[in-house]
Amino acid sequence: MSINIPRGTQDILPGTVEKWQHIEKIATEICRNYQYKEIRTPIFEHTELFQRGVGDTTDIVQKEMYTFTDRGDRSLTLRPEGTAAVVRSFVENKMFGDPNQPVKLYYNGPMFRYERPQSGRYRQFVQFGVEAIGSEDPAIDAEVMALVMDIYKTAGLQKVELVLNSLGDKDSRVAYRNALIEHFQPRIGEFCEDCQSRLEKNPMRILDCKKDREHELMKSAPSILDYLNEYSRTYFEKVQSYLTALGIDFTIDPTLVRGLDYYNHTAFEVMSRADGFGAITTLCGGGRYNGLVSQMGGPDVPGIGFAFSMERFLAAMEAEGIAWEDDNRLDCYVVSLGEEAKDYTVKLVHDLRTAGMKAERDYQNRKMKAQFKAADRLQARFVAILGEDELKENKINIKDMETGEQQEIALDQFVETLRKKMEEK
Ligand code: ATP
Ligand code: MG
Repeated sequence: MSINIPRGTQDILPGTVEKWQHIEKIATEICRNYQYKEIRTPIFEHTELFQRGVGDTTDIVQKEMYTFTDRGDRSLTLRPEGTAAVVRSFVENKMFGDPNQPVKLYYNGPMFRYERPQSGRYRQFVQFGVEAIGSEDPAIDAEVMALVMDIYKTAGLQKVELVLNSLGDKDSRVAYRNALIEHFQPRIGEFCEDCQSRLEKNPMRILDCKKDREHELMKSAPSILDYLNEYSRTYFEKVQSYLTALGIDFTIDPTLVRGLDYYNHTAFEVMSRADGFGAITTLCGGGRYNGLVSQMGGPDVPGIGFAFSMERFLAAMEAEGIAWEDDNRLDCYVVSLGEEAKDYTVKLVHDLRTAGMKAERDYQNRKMKAQFKAADRLQARFVAILGEDELKENKINIKDMETGEQQEIALDQFVETLRKKMEEK
């Protein structure tokens, strides 16, 4: 009996993997422009990291983690997100002591959540994210949003919308928290069990509930924006004015929350507005987390970041019908005829490759016609033909597959001639 892939995971096969590489290339190049450097942290961490760093009241920690005990009786968890580990590493490696502040990092790798798989929702998925730690300048908030929008736009996405909110600072949040409890308390019995337990622990997360979204109290809930104190209001206005100066459109949604205690000020999402994108429209989530670093045992330094998944990025590209040229076309297929010529092409193909060209030959003992077909399938720009007679005369034929032009050249000139022809293409 054969064994199948686990539920909620996928193989990224050749033909599709090029799309991933294309996006990764765009994202990493843009990160370089904005001066974010890559960080790689382990796939598993101590479970406690996420309990503290993501938060005990979140869906991730309560329902979605892949947690296991290793042979040394430690509780470990496959990372469900990237921020907690980056912050751990920031503290552990004392990056707060680096003269270059803020510390600007990006990561790209698999995350694991035990979710109900559906389109755009996997149990293993890949997140690309950035964190800027060490600055509370609204310009850095605008910068990280500009960065992610730059990535989407460069990839060709047009139907993306930046949605923005402010969660205010601690004082604003306390005032808002009380207002929410007052609002939901009288009718909390009509809400799901999760919401009932959220009421005291973390009432802002009620606004994020997927089950009770349509409840009338959701729509009439007080707005955080009415509870921002002066510092928070000014901060939010400054973020907006920077975005406007950068020519980045956004809409404000006061119901957008990231319900953790240490999230504050800027919260944002990028949504796809493409027709046919499906029910889940969030491409990217991000926000400011000024309390997180100290929560993780570091100094009291502020931070902001975002993460998007590659899977939803690709789905959005598909929904918008964006195609691009994959430049992995073959430069030269070397066709051979006869045993001796066949042996000779082993070295010939190798020489082409080490000279920087994409070269291929036959390994299936195919007849000449089938070798030509293989060259066609691989969209070879040139086909080189080496028969027994040519080999005896130290010659080889080169055919330009676009013009049909053929040329016989000296075998020892072959690599150099082809290299020149490729340069002309
Ligand atoms: P959702 O509300 O869709 O569950 P989330 O709030 O759990 O999202 P975040 O933790 O903020 O998501 O993660 C940031 C981004 O990662 C999301 O905007 C989405 O693009 C992506 N993402 C999250 N969970 C998954 C998943 N299971 N499969 C694929 N992508 C995901
Ligand atoms: Mg989720």
